[in-house]
Amino acid sequence: MEVGPAEPDRDCPRCPRLVEFRETWRAKRPDWENAPVPSFGPVEARLLIVGLAPGLQGANRTGRPFTGDYAGDLLYATLTEFGFATGTYAARPDDGLTLIDARITNAVRCVPPENKPTGPEIATCRPFLVATMAEMPKLAAIVALGRIAHDTLMGTLGWKKSARPFGHGAVHAGSHGTSSTWPQRPLTVFDSYHCSRYNTNTGVLTPAMFRAVFSAVRAHVDGAAAR
Ligand code: SF4
Repeated sequence: MEVGPAEPDRDCPRCPRLVEFRETWRAKRPDWENAPVPSFGPVEARLLIVGLAPGLQGANRTGRPFTGDYAGDLLYATLTEFGFATGTYAARPDDGLTLIDARITNAVRCVPPENKPTGPEIATCRPFLVATMAEMPKLAAIVALGRIAHDTLMGTLGWKKSARPFGHGAVHAGSHGTSSTWPQRPLTVFDSYHCSRYNTNTGVLTPAMFRAVFSAVRAHVDGAAAR
């Protein structure tokens, strides 16, 4: 498989509906980023966190994944607690927060209407997710935030969804890599309910449940380093 660039152009034209939505918000809010949101964190990281798509007033506004809306409050607090981030998260891309051994990306880089990308849009943006994984030489663990991110990852990795169904706290071991430029390596995927305000307000995901996932990830990453 040919691996292309990991970051789309600011004016990536591949998804007509998302381009139209992006242009609408560029006209309405020229002070917002309104562009594909790049991955955040070092390429040498062992952990990759995969969300579905930028939130309109979160990452789409600020230009950094999970920055500026509720989901970021819980995600960055949890990453800091488990040593995957340092600094103070202040919901701004210039807050100085730094990720340690962790990186964050979205399966779909442009904000979709009502937070819902279509299947074809997920498939169209997949090459950027493939390239993001391929450019991480130490990638050993992925946290999939939500069922759609999980399903997208399974498809991207060529892992059967039926054999590895989504479940909060589920852990799926396998390998990734499909070419000489993206060699085969062990990889473990950890599932979590998405840390959205809706999920936390309705009790689908509690901070303790979210911490439990990252506690398992921390143990896995540290164990892999010790082996
Ligand atoms: S979602 Fe991805 S493929 Fe579609 S326009 Fe945005 S960057 Fe391009």
